[in-house]
Amino acid sequence: MVVLVVNCGSSSLKFQLFDMRSEEVLARGLVERIGLSGGKFKYYRGTEEPIEFTDSQVYASHANALEAVLKALTQRDYGVISDISTINAVGHRVAHGGELFTAATLITEEVLRGIKDCISLAPLHNPANVTGIEECMRLMPGTPQVAVFDTAFHQTMPEEAYLYAIPYAYYQKHKIRRYGFHGSSHRYVAEQAAELLNKPLDRLKLISCHLGNGSSICAIKEGRSIDTSMGFTPLEGLPMGSRSGTIDPAIIEFLVKKENMSLDGVMEVLNKKSGVYGISGVSSDFRDLEQAAAGGNHLCDVAIQVFCRSVKKYIGSYYALLEGLDALIFTAGIGENSALVREKICTGLEHMGIKLDRRRNLTPDAITVSAEDSKVKIMVISTNEELLIARDAQKIILQRSIPS
Ligand code: ADP
Repeated sequence: MVVLVVNCGSSSLKFQLFDMRSEEVLARGLVERIGLSGGKFKYYRGTEEPIEFTDSQVYASHANALEAVLKALTQRDYGVISDISTINAVGHRVAHGGELFTAATLITEEVLRGIKDCISLAPLHNPANVTGIEECMRLMPGTPQVAVFDTAFHQTMPEEAYLYAIPYAYYQKHKIRRYGFHGSSHRYVAEQAAELLNKPLDRLKLISCHLGNGSSICAIKEGRSIDTSMGFTPLEGLPMGSRSGTIDPAIIEFLVKKENMSLDGVMEVLNKKSGVYGISGVSSDFRDLEQAAAGGNHLCDVAIQVFCRSVKKYIGSYYALLEGLDALIFTAGIGENSALVREKICTGLEHMGIKLDRRRNLTPDAITVSAEDSKVKIMVISTNEELLIARDAQKIILQRSIPS
C-alpha cells in the first residue's frame, strides 16, 4: 500500500510518500511561502540530494503546490510512482478535532463539516488543513482521505484534567477546556517505547516530553493520555522557543494598562516574543542558547534553567498522577538532541528512581540513557508523526476493505 501524508500549513505544504510494506519513505518534500513571494518547493527522492523548484506556479496557491507535488511524484526522471492512482490513501494532519474526533477518521462530507466546525478553536491551522483536504479530494477523486488529529490522543483525559476552574457555562457555551496537542507524537513515542521495552503499552506508565520549537508533556497510563501540558491552545504549559507557556493570566491585563498595549499586541508578545527567546533576548534555538550560555551569557543560561525547571515540575506532578513511572521519554528537536537539557532535567530526580547515565546520555543515537540501576527507564526516541499518520491511514483503509 502507498500512502501520501500531507501536512498543510497556512503558507506551507509538507508531504511524505510511504511504501507501507517496508514503511520506507519513497519521496518527501516541502513547499514554502505559499501565496507569498519567493516561495520554493524542495523535493527529496529517497536519500538523494534535493531538487528545488522556484517557479512561481509552484507556490501561487495550495492548489498549485499540490499539483506540483503530484507532478513531481509521477515525473519520469525523478518521480517514484508511475501514476497518482498508485496512491491508495492520503493521510492528513489536522490540528484540531475538538471533542468531535477521538481517533483518526475516514473523511466524508460530514467529517469535513466537523473539521470546519472546529475552525473557531484553531483559526490559524484548521482552515489550511481543510484546504489541503479539499484540494486532494479534487485532484485525487476516489482516493480515500483520512484525517489524523493532533488533539485526538488527549480525548481520553478525565474531566478533572480537561476542565479549567472558570465558570462551567464557558465550557458548555464555548467548549473552553484543555485539548492538548502533539497527540500523534506522544502516541508514536509511547508505542515505540512499549516495543523497545517489550511490554504491552496497556501495562505501562509513561511520561513523554516532546521538547521542540513547541513543547508539551504528556502523562500516559495504559496507553491513554491522562493529562498534558498544552491546553485550550498550544500557548499553555512549558515555556517554549518564543511562547510564554503558563503565566499568571493577570499579567495580560497589567501589560495592557502599563505598556498601553492592545490585547492583540500582548497576545503577539506571548506567542512570538516570549519563552526562552523572551528571557534571553538572543534566540529561540537551544543550540544558540547553549553556546551563548557556555560563553558566559547569564540570561541564556537562565532561559535554559527556566525551561528545564518547568519540565522537571511537570515530571513530578505527572509522576504523582500516574502513581509511579516505567519510562521517561525525550523526543523532538531538543529532547532528541540536547544531552545538556536532558541532564539538567534529570538531575535531582534520582530519589524518584530516575537516574541518568551521564556517559550514555552523551552517546549519539543512544536510546536508553538511564543507569543500569535506574528504576525508571529514560529513553530518547525520535518522533515520527508522519509515519504514525500513514499507519493510521493504512489501518482505516484495511478495516474498510474487510467485509462486515
Ligand atoms: P518543531 O516544533 O518545529 O517541529 P523541532 O522538534 O524540530 O521543532 O525542534 C527544533 C528545535 O530543536 C530547535 O529550535 C532547537 O532549539 C532544538 N535543537 C535541534 N537540534 C539541537 C541540538 N543539537 N542541541 C540543542 N537543541 C537542538
